Amino acid sequence: MQNFTYYNPTKLIFGKETVTKLKDEVPNYGKKVLVVYGGGSIKRNGLYDEVMQILNDINAEVFELPGVEPNPRVTTVRKGIDICKKEKIDFILAVGGGSTIDCTKAIAVGSKSEHDIWDIVTKKAQAEDALPFGTVLTLAATGSEMNAGSVITNWETNEKHGWGSPFSYPQFSILDPVNTFTVPKDQTIYGIVDMMSHALEHYFHHEKNTILQDYMVEGILRTVIETGPKLLNDLENYELRSTILYSGTMALNGMVNMGYQGDWASHNLEHAVSAVHDIPHGGGLAILFPHWMEHSLDANVGRFKQLAVRVFNIDENGKSDREVALEGIQALRDFWNSIDAPSRLADYDITEDTIEEMADKTVIANPTFGNFKKLTREDAVAIYKASL
Ligand code: NAP
Ligand code: FE
Repeated sequence: MQNFTYYNPTKLIFGKETVTKLKDEVPNYGKKVLVVYGGGSIKRNGLYDEVMQILNDINAEVFELPGVEPNPRVTTVRKGIDICKKEKIDFILAVGGGSTIDCTKAIAVGSKSEHDIWDIVTKKAQAEDALPFGTVLTLAATGSEMNAGSVITNWETNEKHGWGSPFSYPQFSILDPVNTFTVPKDQTIYGIVDMMSHALEHYFHHEKNTILQDYMVEGILRTVIETGPKLLNDLENYELRSTILYSGTMALNGMVNMGYQGDWASHNLEHAVSAVHDIPHGGGLAILFPHWMEHSLDANVGRFKQLAVRVFNIDENGKSDREVALEGIQALRDFWNSIDAPSRLADYDITEDTIEEMADKTVIANPTFGNFKKLTREDAVAIYKASL
């Protein structure tokens, strides 16, 4: 295990009717509140009215930034920064999924910087401070509610990049499973795939002695595999929604990956696909991750074998390590197929035509990517071809 320091300042508030806690939390940060949200789901399910009523009750002066896109755009971030600077906003409240939260993180940091936010996203400039912000999460997937990461897309350059800073943790996040009841089936599937992918990204490393971390990551995977299919048949089940919501947070709040560095090549490969084709993040991961696994198997067959045996209950008797490992990859694929996740780039009408362009995007930041196995542009081309 490597040395580590763990610090996560986000206050997590979980459970039924916890949105009322906004009354206690928001006044700590000031009067002028910018509420950031997406394309209207919170208006349709009543959460918008609930939040506005509470902000009204505490006499907040409310400003709004609606219309954050899935795969949030830097142009929308800039709109939010303009409002914050012009109106001298004290606090930002994100009400939505990972896209709304990621956009809010960039607004919060950009509002306290002289640099253009895209320079911070692309690491040409550094975040130095941020407006305080909180979240009311409506979709279980990204873990953005309790981490410092954010993913922003630039449609002028067709780039999608992840970034983060010590300033981009939410002050608090409110997670009421009831607020996820209206997440449609397809988005619920993408969320399941995304949180499993975060666990899998952690799992592929070469660090010795990560016994506890392995069991925790395997625990998240087993929990989601057990709960996900039940939830997809019963979308308004509180217990199932709460298990999946908690799993999504735990998969990417830093708790299970202390003392080692996971892989993250599959996320880089997916961001490049989304940057060109604007597909849902979880959909892209379901297609690419098993192909990354096959491509990277020889970097350490033992990790794949352990996953196969401990998470997918593959019987190892009389088989080589490689055979067991491959059966595990197939079991992951079978699971994602069983919940109707996409399995081929063709499911999004992506053909050979854009493979070179996507491969270019994978190496914009660095000539190689991935920590478990260092991949190059040629590897990206091979994985995309296998995924067609
Ligand atoms: P999302 O893009 O925030 O939302 C997807 C869709 O679900 C939107 O159309 C949204 O509608 C809808 N939706 C959200 N909550 C709903 C509800 N309660 N009822 C009905 N519909 C609802 O999805 P996401 O998967 O959470 O976020 C994806 C983004 O996060 C991607 O850009 C991905 O790259 C990024 N990401 C970030 C991290 C991180 O750590 N920061 C990690 C992984 C991925 P409305 O717009 O109308 O609300
Ligand atoms: Fe993700």
